[in-house]
Amino acid sequence: MANIDNEFMLDNLPCGALVTSAEHVILDANDYFFNEFCWDKSFLVGRNVESILTKASKVFYQSYFIPTLLHEKYCGEMQLIIVNRNGIRIPITVNAKIGVNGNVYWAFFDASDRDKLYEELIQAREKLELQALELKELASIDELTGLLNRREVKSRSIPVLSQFSRTKNSLSILMIDIDFFKRINDRHGHSEGDKVLRDFGRLLTECGRESDLISRFGGEEFLILLPDTNLEQTMIFSKRLHGLANKILIDEEALTVSIGVSLFDGEMSFEEMVGKADIALYKAKDLGRNRTEVFSLI
Ligand code: GH3
Ligand code: MG
Ligand code: MG
Repeated sequence: MANIDNEFMLDNLPCGALVTSAEHVILDANDYFFNEFCWDKSFLVGRNVESILTKASKVFYQSYFIPTLLHEKYCGEMQLIIVNRNGIRIPITVNAKIGVNGNVYWAFFDASDRDKLYEELIQAREKLELQALELKELASIDELTGLLNRREVKSRSIPVLSQFSRTKNSLSILMIDIDFFKRINDRHGHSEGDKVLRDFGRLLTECGRESDLISRFGGEEFLILLPDTNLEQTMIFSKRLHGLANKILIDEEALTVSIGVSLFDGEMSFEEMVGKADIALYKAKDLGRNRTEVFSLI
């Protein structure tokens, strides 16, 4: 910028050009620089360049920008934020090199638009992640009862079964079916039937442990997987379920359920366990409903 031709050319460049000394003092800059940051040339020349950087940029300048320059003689695409005369923060992308005289030659662009785009991109990504989470929840939860749906309970049960086949701990599956549910629909309407399903679902959630998998398996059937639960404990749980169902009254008549239980033998697949619980459930229905039958005891 000492040279007149260079000065003319640099002032017409659509990017910032700046020279600072080895002591970080601003020696000169082109018109773009002064226009962009609204500083008077007479005010800024002779001042330390750090005086127009934000605090964070100052730290970055001292700890990374300058060490890189001293080591590599060049640094590219550095992100700094300049505070203009009106206190507005303007992000810039800088390429800089160190000259033989120790002066630093800067070329930079205003990166506000890129930063805005980047921010929009981040926001869009966060929104998408949230939507994906909501979709995943929608795909795994039964809408009526808020319990796990059939697909989700299956996908969560499979790893539990493989873990339990290694540890040999006891585990059971209960298939619960509401007795004479069709009659409730027929006599009181479908929406009353829905209410019974919702109420029963809520009672199930309240009685389970955190590790239990509680699901609406279909229609008026619920499947519960109880980890670390042997036959005796399963029967106690099942008795509680019968009691809970009885709390729901329809025309002063207590709701009843039939339950089929299968116990994990260390090798069964999820489908096998469900199949056996189903057989036990049919047995419970056959024997008059409102009772629990265990597959292994049939
Ligand atoms: P059982 O004691 O032998 O189990 O008799 P049930 O009447 O409970 O069994 P059945 O399979 O004959 O009838 C089940 C009924 O559940 C039929 C179906 O219309 C009803 N159902 C299934 N899903 C829903 C639902 O989401 N809401 C309502 N209200 N009813 C449902
Ligand atoms: Mg049924
Ligand atoms: Mg039924």
